[in-house]
Amino acid sequence: MTPTHPSRASGADIELAARRMMPGPDEVQQRLAFLEFGPEDHALLHLLHERLAPQLEPVIGEFYRHLHAEPELRALLADERQFDKLQHAQLHYFSTLTAGRVDADYVCDRARVGLAHQRIGLAPHWYIGAYRKYLATLLPRVAAVLEEQPELVAPAFGALAKMACFDLGVALDTYIASDRAELNASEERFRAAFGQAAVGLAQLDANGHWLRTNHKLQQILGYSEAELAAMTLADLLHAEEQRGDMLGLHSVLAGRMDLYSREARYRHKDGHLVWVNATFSPMRTDDGALGLIAVVEDIARRKQYEQELMMLANHDVLTGLANRGLLLDRLAQATHQARRSGRPVAVLFFDLDRFKYINDSLGHDAGDQVLVELAGRLSRTVRGGDTVARLGGDEFVVLLPELAHADDAALIGHKLLAVLGQPMMLLGQEITPAASVGISLAPKDGSDGPSLLKNADAAMYRAKRQGGSRLQFYAQEMNARSLDLLKLEASLRHALERDEFLVHYQPQIAVDTNQIVGVEALLRWQPPGRAMVLPADFIPVAEETGLIGMLGQWVLEQACRQQAAWTRAGLRPVRVAVNLSARQFRSEQLVQGVAGALAASGCPADCLELELTESVLMENPEAATAVMQQLSEMGVQLSIDDFGSGYSSLAYLKRFPINALKIDRAFVRDIPADADDAAIATAVIALAHSMKLTVVAEGVETAAQLEFMRERRCDLVQGYYFSRPVPPDQLAALLTRRERG
Ligand code: C2E
Ligand code: MG
Ligand code: MG
Repeated sequence: MTPTHPSRASGADIELAARRMMPGPDEVQQRLAFLEFGPEDHALLHLLHERLAPQLEPVIGEFYRHLHAEPELRALLADERQFDKLQHAQLHYFSTLTAGRVDADYVCDRARVGLAHQRIGLAPHWYIGAYRKYLATLLPRVAAVLEEQPELVAPAFGALAKMACFDLGVALDTYIASDRAELNASEERFRAAFGQAAVGLAQLDANGHWLRTNHKLQQILGYSEAELAAMTLADLLHAEEQRGDMLGLHSVLAGRMDLYSREARYRHKDGHLVWVNATFSPMRTDDGALGLIAVVEDIARRKQYEQELMMLANHDVLTGLANRGLLLDRLAQATHQARRSGRPVAVLFFDLDRFKYINDSLGHDAGDQVLVELAGRLSRTVRGGDTVARLGGDEFVVLLPELAHADDAALIGHKLLAVLGQPMMLLGQEITPAASVGISLAPKDGSDGPSLLKNADAAMYRAKRQGGSRLQFYAQEMNARSLDLLKLEASLRHALERDEFLVHYQPQIAVDTNQIVGVEALLRWQPPGRAMVLPADFIPVAEETGLIGMLGQWVLEQACRQQAAWTRAGLRPVRVAVNLSARQFRSEQLVQGVAGALAASGCPADCLELELTESVLMENPEAATAVMQQLSEMGVQLSIDDFGSGYSSLAYLKRFPINALKIDRAFVRDIPADADDAAIATAVIALAHSMKLTVVAEGVETAAQLEFMRERRCDLVQGYYFSRPVPPDQLAALLTRRERG
């Protein structure tokens, strides 16, 4: 073909490359010698050159028609202007061919042809074919111009053929050399990219042998290149994963898939598994056989994040137990399986008893510690297939799928309660956790997770109402309880409007003088036409719903008014003690409310005592101290109620501006029979006295208890032995009697 085909490289660029690649003068001589090109050929070409010159144009015309008939070549020659230019160049080319002057320019020109064709990717067979056409078209013309010397036709044509062969040789050699150089360069680039890639790369044969691996892959897997070369892909795979991979790779090799990609765990040399994303696509190996190229990414980090996210989404952060979402999943699975197996599923709903006290008195960190410890105890006690979940707060659920028998739920429940109830040390104190457990069973108490949970919760609530630290199975009527609560809240609201509350007073007697020196105001609810309701049954709901704010202020005002009324009635002034709830104590309106009640009633500040519980104080000792300071400065007396039932620290007790300690009834009840209680009461009295505090014994019911208190120098006693809490007029009567007696 021609030396001037359009090329992607510039002409100057190709010219330079051609000069670099073309054979030198010695080699040109050698080639010509091998073609047996001698002086006589030279002379013959010279002869032809002159005679053929006028013939060249039609020769080239015919030559081009031939090329044009071939669609692939026509596409290259399409442009007409280009076509003309080419024909012109061809004319020059062919005329130099017959000129027989094989100098450097000539050789370079031929090398350029090969190079240009290599660059545009035109295969050599077109080139050889074109030469054939050229010679064939020329042959009759050679014969014609040598009509008079027929004996010269063959040698002249032979010379022409030698020259054509020389041209062809230079062009093809350059073509091949250029092709190889390009290949080498691209192989070089590939090798560099392969070696330095930030992902693992490998070439494998069709049987999964590692033919070539890059540095990164060796690093991911921990093997050297040589070690990998002796292994196959299957050696790195878990047996379970092998089959799937082999199928995928066969599909790629068979051409059914362009690539096969998946996340897998490969076994590292040191035995651990590494998460990778491996992608395989087909690639010929060096010897031309079909193989694979693998791209192996290390995705350990991403997997770890994924797992952490999964963990976060499904687990309770504090304890690591399953959360509600995961529990519901497991419940759905368990109930589904139970339908097939016919075995019961049990849901055990745990709620810790008195957990609020731990949180309030020892702080939330301590509370968290308890939750973590108990979560661990539950997890260690159940079996592998069981689920322990935390629903938040102090609520835990244990799911027991596929029980052999429904009775097992109670056995396991009791066992778990016993484990939870083991004492533990917390901030140097021994505490004994306890819980209430409600149990629901599928299919009896519900066929789906949410209703099983709801019913176990209802049963737990019943267990709690029965005093806690026990286990209760669900029974249908239990769902009434949430309804009760709603009703109770509504009636409480009305009760305040309708004046259904009363305050009863219980006297406090000075042990040494036997005089009533104080009274405790105790709230009562008297719904019309129904039995009197005691505070334990409605104060918690009032507290929960916020109603306690109004109710508490009402009691405060009522008590102050009553104190002033008794004094006005000519009775000796007594101090009135009012209980404050946690919420009331936290309220910012407290100090103002107290001042208001005092001012409105005319009750002197030192005749009002406010009773606080330990847990309320310990919840936030700093804030409590500040509020107490304000109240104390007003002259109001402060006492700690139910002392001994909470977890208050003595160190703090010293800091609070308090006047009195009330020993919890629980320690008085079994005195003098119970030696422990007697010892505790004795110690509390001594302690209080050492801190210059007044001590009140609550719940004194017997003469023996009174005697005990007298011997220990307890200051005041309060209890049924003297009087139950009574309406104001009855208390006035008691006061009058004592005045006289
Ligand atoms: P508390 O402050 O410890 O009150 C003493 C409780 O012990 C009263 O129960 C009283 O009736 C009872 N009690 C007194 N002497 C004896 C006795 O010898 N034997 C026995 N078994 N019990 C005795 P009550 O009136 O049922 O009050 C229970 C709790 O309700 C009170 O305990 C107090 O914490 C709370 N409470 C009562 N009134 C109010 C109030 O106005 N506001 C707030 N926030 N809480 C109140
Ligand atoms: Mg009290
Ligand atoms: Mg008390």
